[in-house]
Amino acid sequence: MILDGKAVSEKRLEILKEKIDESGLYPRLATVIVGNDPASQMYVRMKHRACERVGIGSVGIELPEDASTERVLETIARLNNDPDIDGILVQLPLPRGVDTTRVIDAVAPIKDVDGFHPFNLGRLLAGKPVYAPCTPQGIMTILDEYGIPARGQRAVVVGRSIDVGRPMAALLLNADATVTICHSKTRNIEDETRNADILVSAVGRAKFVRPEMVKVGATVIDVGINYDEQGKLCGDIDFEAVRERAGAITPVPGGVGPMTIATLMENTFKAARLRTCCDETAR
Ligand code: NAP
Repeated sequence: MILDGKAVSEKRLEILKEKIDESGLYPRLATVIVGNDPASQMYVRMKHRACERVGIGSVGIELPEDASTERVLETIARLNNDPDIDGILVQLPLPRGVDTTRVIDAVAPIKDVDGFHPFNLGRLLAGKPVYAPCTPQGIMTILDEYGIPARGQRAVVVGRSIDVGRPMAALLLNADATVTICHSKTRNIEDETRNADILVSAVGRAKFVRPEMVKVGATVIDVGINYDEQGKLCGDIDFEAVRERAGAITPVPGGVGPMTIATLMENTFKAARLRTCCDETAR
């Protein structure tokens, strides 16, 4: 079974648009981009387009490549204090000269729709998330939409970044999976991945996951965004070979990527509800 993230994201965005219409709220997202990285600019444009589609207002702030950490922090402080802004998204990666940890830590937790602030990561780890990071939360939504249970399953996450691997493991644990995290120092990684009922790869290397690393019938989720020798977009998983063994698999493109943006929209609506209505169900 191909897990069609594009179709799920379309469905979720339609439902969200209706919910926003019914709520009478006008959520607003501010994006902050530092420098001219074309990939980052493309992602931010896609996020603004999604906002427009569901009825979320968006403001884009662009700072030059040589902006200092202090200047980025000033921008964040202004957005934190702006009553018209519900969510703040700082597009990563930031240029080398900017202290990413200080910037992430500066975003007000209630406006942290990316879920990277230590408060939100801590809540996630405690099993009581407010905002979970969008990519792993989007993956949980795909599993849910396709009726793939995590409870009692062996889940293996390859990658331990703050934006994907670690929160993915926490979300799977919160959903009652038995979770293993692998990384570049893991020995005999295939011995771990072959045990996985649910295998998530967030490494960033084309054809990293080969068929012999996958249990027959497993659900295989590909987070990677890579380019093959021909310059074609691909994930971490050797898709054509692995799909023969997997029970379910996400393609690249059209798998995890669209869900990341849909989840950002959902988190922004949640931020608006939390800030304006003190909506207990949003907490
Ligand atoms: P990252 O911060 O570079 O983390 C990569 C992880 O892979 C690290 O934990 C690293 O281990 C591990 N790793 C590297 N080589 C390995 C190996 N040989 N064996 C086992 N583990 C290895 O990357 P990220 O931000 O998590 O992103 C991962 C990929 O997902 C990238 O391709 C990125 O573009 C993509 N991505 C996609 C989306 C989306 O929406 N689709 C969102 C975010 C990221 P160490 O910690 O030991 O170094």
